[in-house]
Amino acid sequence: MAGSGTAHMRNTVDSVLTVRDLTVEFRVAKDKIVKAVSGLSFDVVRGETLAIVGESGCGKTTLARAVLQLPPPNAGEVVLNGTDLTLLPKENLRSARTSMQMIFQDPISSLDPRMTVHQLIDEPLEIWDRGNRAERDERINKLLQSVGLEPELVLNRRSYEFSGGQCQRISIARALALDPRMLICDEPVSALDVSIQAQILNLLLHMKETFGLTMVFISHDLAVVKAISTRVMVMYLGKICEVAPPDVLYAKPAHHYTRALLNSVPIPDPTKQIRTELLQGEPPSPMNPPSGCRFRTRCVGASALCAEQEPQLREVSPGQFVACHHPIV
Ligand code: SF4
Repeated sequence: MAGSGTAHMRNTVDSVLTVRDLTVEFRVAKDKIVKAVSGLSFDVVRGETLAIVGESGCGKTTLARAVLQLPPPNAGEVVLNGTDLTLLPKENLRSARTSMQMIFQDPISSLDPRMTVHQLIDEPLEIWDRGNRAERDERINKLLQSVGLEPELVLNRRSYEFSGGQCQRISIARALALDPRMLICDEPVSALDVSIQAQILNLLLHMKETFGLTMVFISHDLAVVKAISTRVMVMYLGKICEVAPPDVLYAKPAHHYTRALLNSVPIPDPTKQIRTELLQGEPPSPMNPPSGCRFRTRCVGASALCAEQEPQLREVSPGQFVACHHPIV
């Protein structure tokens, strides 16, 4: 069993995406290799929202990009609707990728400022020859309406004329143009004002229901994830720490890193007791991760075993999987 194990894999026919033993490494100098994602496996079942959580630099975005083959991983399988994307020739890969779209963190810079909103949404439809001019225009109007924008007010304007929240609505409309089955959202609200974040999260939930989507939602913010996910996967330094339904994970985290992350979420009530296990220090370099459990240099529960053996994921309560020699529950 490689990496952090596969006990959490469901191996069901309902899996839209199955990732096995995915490894992404970058050479940054002659003798320096960043181990961004190390032998990681997970699956996403039709209709669910898998949240991938961790501090910045834990490999979440690299993982998402490797799933989309942007660039392809160094090793591992990425099976989308039964097809292993890592084995596809370039042209077939482009076509397969239309069923899996990504929404990026910075909505303003992810949209080409030279293009009008009409051109931005029309581009994928035109490239993939989806309908004639009238049919495409009708689709563009419907997409804009579905994300809460008035077509006649926005079609001929450019991205720099809109707020961050409006740009994210345009990005969502563009991502849905080709009717994908899966959306990968990479920190889609973290660049937005707090007042706008809830609107975009609600919109994503609404679009998920309307378009029958399956979602992967990447975030460093556990509070955001709680509202939107059906399963949460916690990552640390390119490995999985814990996988669980959100209500279980928030009520009874089993991994010391998950508990420390939860304790880092600010408490609005000053009368509440200060939480004890907080995240100390910075993560070690992914060029030289610790032996055994990668979290051991920051873990209050670490033992000698944690330095010697890498913990493998195992089920500690129904649906809750943890990679820890000394879990909390
Ligand atoms: S395996 Fe050891 S170091 Fe890692 S989280 Fe568990 S107790 Fe801490």
